Amino acid sequence: MVSVLSVKNLSFSYGPVEVLSDVSFDVEKGDYVGLAGPNGAGKTTLVKTVLGLSERSRGVVKLFGRELKSFDGWDRIGYLSQRVTAFNPLFPASVKEVVKLGLLSQKKFPRRFTESDSVKIRQSLDLMGISDLEDKPVSDLSGGQQQRVFLARALVSNPDLLILDEPGTALDQPSREGFFEFIKKLNQDKGITIILITHDTAQIGQYANKLLYMDKKVVFYGSFSDFCKSTEMHQYFGHFSQHLICHQH
Ligand code: ADP
Repeated sequence: MVSVLSVKNLSFSYGPVEVLSDVSFDVEKGDYVGLAGPNGAGKTTLVKTVLGLSERSRGVVKLFGRELKSFDGWDRIGYLSQRVTAFNPLFPASVKEVVKLGLLSQKKFPRRFTESDSVKIRQSLDLMGISDLEDKPVSDLSGGQQQRVFLARALVSNPDLLILDEPGTALDQPSREGFFEFIKKLNQDKGITIILITHDTAQIGQYANKLLYMDKKVVFYGSFSDFCKSTEMHQYFGHFSQHLICHQH
């Protein structure tokens, strides 16, 4: 088993309010983890901590076997944040330019782009089926198209781990399913490890192989079949909700 992410006894507080409480779990290469839990459960905070964006946490986080403090393989991680609209719509960047930004983290100063970067950008646009949009301003695109652009940016450095925060919210139901399906293909065909934050607990079991359900602490972490069999989860969620989460077809 190759460890991609290991979190041990992680706690985090905003002022006096504890948001993550003694969180521990391990993600292995090839996993597709659905990260679920109610609003305010600490999911985004957990992801920010793992990405080194949130300081003052207690506990140990290791990425690809390296402690966060000494980790320098950020180009191995693709991240798609919750709000694609956080991108300033007045900033006149083209699709190609936005995707190019995904290669910046691996560049040392002075940052120069090479022919092999152009190839990577073309491949990523191609993979997302948006090559024909490459010169369009991102602000002119639909929500679904923008989502693809940002995913192309997250994928351009060929990451081993892809972290997606609520990616479906900008999409209607059919595009949402298409998007989940596409992520599943990345996981299966390219072996990319996925951590996907979602509200859609009723659907995620169709795609993910593991469920991490949090509410400040870890309520459940394991396979969907273990979740479905768990009498403890039956008590926690009640029969109906447990059944809904188990619905995998
Ligand atoms: P989730 O992603 O599961 O909805 P969050 O990690 O966004 O949860 O938030 C967890 C809790 O931390 C919530 O109660 C939220 O209000 C609080 N919180 C989030 N960001 C901040 C912040 N910058 N300052 C203070 N409290 C925050």
